[in-house]
Amino acid sequence: MLLTRVLRAVLRQRVVKLLALCGLAYLLTGCAGTGSSSRASSWEAAMGPVSTHRIPAAQLTREINLRQSFVPKGRYGRKYNRPMTPRYITIHSTQNPTGDAWDHAKALHRGALRGGRTGYLIWHFTVQEDVVIQHMPTNEQGEHADFDGPGNNYSIGIEMCEHRGNDMLRTMDRTAKLTASLMYYHHIPISNVVPHYHWPRYKYDPPNKNCPHFLLENGKPGATWNWFISRVQREYARIAQ
Ligand SMILES: [Zn+2]
Repeated sequence: MLLTRVLRAVLRQRVVKLLALCGLAYLLTGCAGTGSSSRASSWEAAMGPVSTHRIPAAQLTREINLRQSFVPKGRYGRKYNRPMTPRYITIHSTQNPTGDAWDHAKALHRGALRGGRTGYLIWHFTVQEDVVIQHMPTNEQGEHADFDGPGNNYSIGIEMCEHRGNDMLRTMDRTAKLTASLMYYHHIPISNVVPHYHWPRYKYDPPNKNCPHFLLENGKPGATWNWFISRVQREYARIAQ
């Protein structure tokens, strides 16, 4: 009888401990579940603060290590002459686990990426951890956002690489610097720096693409996108006007 009572007491204690552990686990996962801003704050901590030292615009452009590898005029994505005065900057990510920036440049040169109005996809810049490659002039329309919509007609398209081994923090840092430089040279306000999500594609369901997916929350701009925009703003503030 005594033994049974002792056993019951021990069992009760274990159940209490187990419930306490479950509660802790629930709290932890609960925190992780709401962690869009914590994702941004851990990235911010890892990337470190943006310098507040003023520099000429050309120096910021030099920091991004820009290389040009233009698709020849009249070929593939540049088949038609479509002039553009850019009013927006559209941020994408490749969602390609294997291709780096050079692979994407080669694919555009071969006309290997099909789609859009002209039959060939093209955008202006591809960014990876150590380099930015420009594929076409910024005063020509690309084919990266929304068929005949304003995303293609008026925006500079930037793709961030996601291949395995690519440092995403360095890639986002380089993208923020590139975006700030483009804002400066083309007089584009921060309110016109948008994710691909911003441009609906009426042929698709859902029309608004989850792109760049790692900067969105549940497929929509939220705390993480706002953090990226704040990085761009801080890079832009470095430029001595
Ligand atoms: Zn996209």
